[in-house]
Amino acid sequence: SVIAKFELVDEPGTFVLAWTTTPWTLPGNVALAMGKNLQYAKVVSRVSLENPKEEYYILVKNNLDKIFAGKDYKIIADVKAEDLEGKKYKPLFDYFLNQDLKNKENLYTIQLADFVTIEDGTGVVHIAPAFGEEDMILGQEKKLPFIQHVKMNGQIIDQVSDFKGMEVKPKDNPQSTDLKIIEFLEKKGLVFKTEKFVHAYPHCYRCDSPLLNYATSSLFVKINEIKDRLFKNAKSINWVPQHIKEGRFGKWLEGARDWSISRQRFWGSVIPIWVCERCGEKKVIGSIKELEKLSGEKITDLHKHFIDKITFDCTNGCGGKMKRISDVLDCWFESGSMPYGQMHYPFENKKRFEKNFPAQFIAEGADQTRAWFYYLHVLSTALKNKPAFKNVIVNGIVLAEDGKKMSKKLNNYPDPMMVFDKYGADAMRYYLACSPVMKAEDLCFSEKAVAEVVKKVLMLILNVFSFYQLYLIKGIKPSSRSRHILDRWILSRIEGLKSEITQGYENYDLNLATRPIKGFVDDLSTWYLRRSRERIKSGKTNEKKCALQTLTYVFFEFAKIIAPAMPFIADDLYREMKGKKQSVHLEDWPKVNQRLINKKLEAKMQIVRTICSQALEKRVEAGIKVRQPLLELKTGGFKLEKALVQLIKEEVNVKGIIFSKSIKEGVVLNTMITEELKEEGAVREFVRQVQALRKENKLTPKDKIRVYYEQDKEIIEKHKKQIQKQVIAKEIIFREGKLEIKKIT
Ligand SMILES: [Zn+2]
Ligand SMILES: [Zn+2]
Repeated sequence: SVIAKFELVDEPGTFVLAWTTTPWTLPGNVALAMGKNLQYAKVVSRVSLENPKEEYYILVKNNLDKIFAGKDYKIIADVKAEDLEGKKYKPLFDYFLNQDLKNKENLYTIQLADFVTIEDGTGVVHIAPAFGEEDMILGQEKKLPFIQHVKMNGQIIDQVSDFKGMEVKPKDNPQSTDLKIIEFLEKKGLVFKTEKFVHAYPHCYRCDSPLLNYATSSLFVKINEIKDRLFKNAKSINWVPQHIKEGRFGKWLEGARDWSISRQRFWGSVIPIWVCERCGEKKVIGSIKELEKLSGEKITDLHKHFIDKITFDCTNGCGGKMKRISDVLDCWFESGSMPYGQMHYPFENKKRFEKNFPAQFIAEGADQTRAWFYYLHVLSTALKNKPAFKNVIVNGIVLAEDGKKMSKKLNNYPDPMMVFDKYGADAMRYYLACSPVMKAEDLCFSEKAVAEVVKKVLMLILNVFSFYQLYLIKGIKPSSRSRHILDRWILSRIEGLKSEITQGYENYDLNLATRPIKGFVDDLSTWYLRRSRERIKSGKTNEKKCALQTLTYVFFEFAKIIAPAMPFIADDLYREMKGKKQSVHLEDWPKVNQRLINKKLEAKMQIVRTICSQALEKRVEAGIKVRQPLLELKTGGFKLEKALVQLIKEEVNVKGIIFSKSIKEGVVLNTMITEELKEEGAVREFVRQVQALRKENKLTPKDKIRVYYEQDKEIIEKHKKQIQKQVIAKEIIFREGKLEIKKIT
């Protein structure tokens, strides 16, 4: 960096000191900026240790010791920036002194600006509007002339004769031109001080070439002119999550500035503007046809290398030639034109377009708030005075488990294809749909959580379904008419789930549309099926039929409502059940059957389940297995119907339940085991062991067996009939040796 000396025209020998990290911009200097609220001083000091001549300097008061390090100096006076405003200084270079410039009366003047801080070295900033946004804005505000001393190729123009043709930032030695400029100024005594200074400089992310901040003329979309309409049209858009509407998006709209749409590139959609070389007339071309008519040429290619050669006579009749401006469009102009471009509107599909615009719904990442979402909105407002979309789901970013960006280099994430193979695409999809990433929040991807989905959702669904299939009998049709308490409950639950999911999708709230599935699956598996197993296995055809009809209904409805969240497993269930359509994805979205929803029953069932889990805990505490029947359970004064009480009895394996207001909390379990209860327990244990063997041998309910045993002979003999029925055994034979079963073929 360098501190350069700018001598005041009406105070020879007094220099304003300005600091810059980019000496190559100094020939483009047009003004100096001082901070409105900073304290400045006029200081006297020797030019250098060797040179005893004294000079006066004006700079900010705060950094004097640092800037004069090692030099004596004396403050002569306090200086107010206001007093210097408009004063002229002698430029460092004289290349532009005699040039005709717009606003030349303000060339090389001192100006006040808000953005100058004491961090900027001397508190005085050299202004070169061609190379900085703040400089450009100040230049427009203060009507400063504009000097561009660098060509688009990065070389200094011929007029700057001492440096002409030099690259301002050569790739192999980015500082070399800076050093030459400093050297040149040093010879003229215009350098106060130079120092090594490390500062961030932008580079091309691919080839590492230094980049220039460069002022060039551009076409703009006049955002400021349509800002009111942008706000008005944004009102009806439904954002998920909602806070983005007034938050990130609203704030962005408030601060939106005119949109530069020209790009100086080769690849891109050409800007269809032709300009007359002679009179400057501009012609915007609206179609290929129009261009063909004007040029008399067949247009077969819309790319720059072809289109740039197309010229035609000035439409103003001046006799000049019209040539296309060389720029291409900002690619966001194309993304923002998606609704029209995708239908080749307005050249085709006018009706279809009008029917489908604005789009019902779009989805993209939060980073598109200021990009795609915004540009869609700008163009639709400008062209149609409507929003481009009615609903938008904004998702967050999926990060690696360690919270860092997923990166191939760090290898900090599992291969998605591996995740699909190992856990299934449904598991991944469900995991993401339930996650905060659907609400514009970032998510640290967890493979473990995907595995949890498999274990706690997918496997449970499949287990219930395979049990259902195992016991399914011919001719079972879906029905929701069962009066059995468990059936009524699960029907209420599936319709409630349907209602929740429908609401979720209608509000574009994917969390709401997916999260309740897990709870339902848990209810279906760990309560409905658990308590219905015996009924489904039993020979009582009517009870069994009711359960199977209910389950068939439940699975059909379930397949339909989980179809968007778990498309593969949904279709599997549907096709296994021989649904009417070829695929569940061709089904209509099911309507909620409100009559089946029974919130009272659901609440009571919750009480039942709470009592059960409390009672089972007591059993664990007492070390008594569930298979051992007990006499009674006491609990609070709940009013439950008989069928519900029966459920508790079966689940907890007690003979009776006493509801008593005297029990304020929890349950009391009578753990006394009578002879009779012991006998019953032994039978149950025997049945359990035989059933386990049946399962081990992969027998189906159709297979009959012979059982050989040696334990509890008296008890087993006594209850033989009942046991035979339960385990589907033709005979139960006592003999020495461990328990064994044989299939009768
Ligand atoms: Zn590059
Ligand atoms: Zn013309």
